[in-house]
Amino acid sequence: MSTPTTKEPPWALIEKVIGLERRKGFRDAAVIGGLESFLELHWPEGAALVRGYAGMTPDERARALSALEAALDRKRREKFRSLAVPIEEAAGGGPAVAKLLRRLGIETVEDLLTTFPRRLEDRSKRKPVAQVRDGESVTVQGTVRAKSRIKVRSKLELIKVAVDDGTGVIFAIWFNQPWIWDEIEQGKEYSFFGKVQIRFGERQMENPVWEPAGKDFHTGRWVPIYPSTEGLSQGTLRAIVKRNLARFGPLIEDLVPEEVRRRNKLLPRRAAIAGIHFPEGPEAFEAARRTLAFEELFLLQLGLALRKRRWREEGGKALEPDPDVVRKFYETLPFELTGSQVRALREIERDLRAPYPMMRLLQGDVGSGKTVVAAGACVMAVSAGTQAAVMAPTEILAEQHFLVFRELLKGLPIRVERLLGSVRGRERERILEGLARGEIDLLIGTHALFQEGVEFRDLGLAVIDEQHRFGVVQREALQKKGKGTNILVMSATPIPRTVALTLYGEFSISVLSEMPIPGKNVRTVWVSESRRDEVYAEVERLLRAGEKGYVIFPLVEESEEMDLRAATVAYEELSERFAWAGVGLMHGRLPPEEKRRVMGEFREGRIRLLVSTTVVEVGLDVPDATFLVIEHADRFGLSQLHQLRGRIGRQGQPAVCYAIADPTTDEARRRLSAFRDIDDGFRIAEEDLRIRGPGDLLGTAQHGFVSRLKVADLIRDLWLLESAREEAFRLARKGVPGYLVEEVERRFGAALDRLGV
Ligand code: ADP
Ligand code: MG
Repeated sequence: MSTPTTKEPPWALIEKVIGLERRKGFRDAAVIGGLESFLELHWPEGAALVRGYAGMTPDERARALSALEAALDRKRREKFRSLAVPIEEAAGGGPAVAKLLRRLGIETVEDLLTTFPRRLEDRSKRKPVAQVRDGESVTVQGTVRAKSRIKVRSKLELIKVAVDDGTGVIFAIWFNQPWIWDEIEQGKEYSFFGKVQIRFGERQMENPVWEPAGKDFHTGRWVPIYPSTEGLSQGTLRAIVKRNLARFGPLIEDLVPEEVRRRNKLLPRRAAIAGIHFPEGPEAFEAARRTLAFEELFLLQLGLALRKRRWREEGGKALEPDPDVVRKFYETLPFELTGSQVRALREIERDLRAPYPMMRLLQGDVGSGKTVVAAGACVMAVSAGTQAAVMAPTEILAEQHFLVFRELLKGLPIRVERLLGSVRGRERERILEGLARGEIDLLIGTHALFQEGVEFRDLGLAVIDEQHRFGVVQREALQKKGKGTNILVMSATPIPRTVALTLYGEFSISVLSEMPIPGKNVRTVWVSESRRDEVYAEVERLLRAGEKGYVIFPLVEESEEMDLRAATVAYEELSERFAWAGVGLMHGRLPPEEKRRVMGEFREGRIRLLVSTTVVEVGLDVPDATFLVIEHADRFGLSQLHQLRGRIGRQGQPAVCYAIADPTTDEARRRLSAFRDIDDGFRIAEEDLRIRGPGDLLGTAQHGFVSRLKVADLIRDLWLLESAREEAFRLARKGVPGYLVEEVERRFGAALDRLGV
């Protein structure tokens, strides 16, 4: 394989000229000396496509320019492919090294060149030997005066080399690396980097990095440290990167359009790739990183923008909500909407009226009042003559929504029904028929809503509550129920903005930033297991004072039986001890009627202590509950804990949350302190992202997607993401060149598909 040498077109310049020609109405005069001769000079291959340009009609010229553009695009794609050289054919290393590189996931030269160093090591500090200090890491340069080999023990051999730079002598020492003996020659000059140790009055460096003096490649500068694999040294990897950068570097083409690059002060791609491997220092490294991170985010956002456009082009009906019905809804609400609720509803109405399907994410902290916004959206859709569906993650929550919606929509011409998994036989038939005939306007339920056989006459709006419980598959199934259906997704707790813009990149976002009941008054206490008795003494006091609350046990699939037993045993003990206050047990396996009964009694106060697994986590609204005990709090995620805490003090009354835990990991400790110290959901979400990292936070389905981001950091790069997004969406409106579409697909295609919508 040889390096391609064909003359390369000055891409940006030619594109600019094409643009200029178009804008000036194909006058040829836009280019000094004429288009044809310009191309002869810079790109003869292209000149052939505009032969005789001066004598063409404007129509012919327009066609010629399009052909030119297409050829340029093709040429560019070829270039990208030319970096997709299998790693076996890369310069240097041979098959053994190629195998090791593949183990690092490096399959092509392109992968190699875009392998991002994990960090930089500062080897740039140089000092005369006489000035080195104990403990400092420096580069020294000197002549090898003497070598010795010492057998310390049967399995320990030491090579010791005296290095003299005229100001003093330092000893370089290696253990069990016999090959060094032949590599380092007495009388020659080398440079060494390592940590200085002063021992027995002697300056030493153990296992220093070294190379012949003057090379300044592995020493004497800032050096990238790559993800490593056994058998492949940093030095080898670095050398291979360098060799291939020299050979293939000239093939690296810019992806981000020049104009965008200029606006965002980015480096050319070639310089950026060189800059992450061989930076002059941390600032140059950061500039290079920033360019590559932007590029990555830009492509990702472009993918999302393209998908959104396709989605919009599929079209949807423009709905016309009946203003009288909507007004009546607002007038009969038992409270005044907050400013951000009003804003969200206005945004939703605008989306519904538009001739394309809505995709909107409604974000808000626990208790910010998302439900009423959803109800308003349903009123709009139904009053426009279509049907609406609301999906909740659990039966209890679906049941609650059913009650709440019925209350909120009282007196409006809207027929509400519920469809739960447990609804069977006649009842189910009746609902399905009503739905198909359009006699039911609003259907509330669980995933049962998008099972086989559920047909809407005209589904205009689907609301998905507490989305993180829903898989992507369900999202898709839902969309199949109605082409062009408007979708409103509500997050259970806030999602960090970077994540929202990535995972929900095609969605518009409405944020409920105010709480309807300001000054929430929940105190959070983290106590160790040894103080459990004190907690329950306090529970007793609260119950005696007439309060009501929850005791929550974790429940995870892997240990479901054991977890359930723990909750049941606790229930038995507590119901004996607090029989007088009424104790109930709630978990997902109870029969639906039992769940309904328990929730009802808890609401009414016949049960005042509810022992439960995490089924109450999401969305439950029993306003007068004031205390919450979370057992094994270390087993919950941070957002989950915050969601649980959202169950109490919902009217602004004082409330207390006890998190009982003796965490064994650092991460769990950080989680619990964050939970104790932060009560703002948006900040909790950011902290969660910081503690867990993006991959974990997003769950398995989305993991692959984020792991495709090699450079960008969803924690640090919010601003970069914002500008990359803006640029990508702007470009998508103007039209995306073919080579970029291809590149987006190549990098993110499958992962974007898995995002579902
Ligand atoms: P979440 O956003 O967590 O789903 P909900 O929609 O359940 O929150 O609302 C929390 C509580 O606040 C409910 O009891 C609801 O009736 C009440 N609420 C919602 N909006 C307002 C408002 N504008 N003024 C007063 N109370 C409100
Ligand atoms: Mg809710």
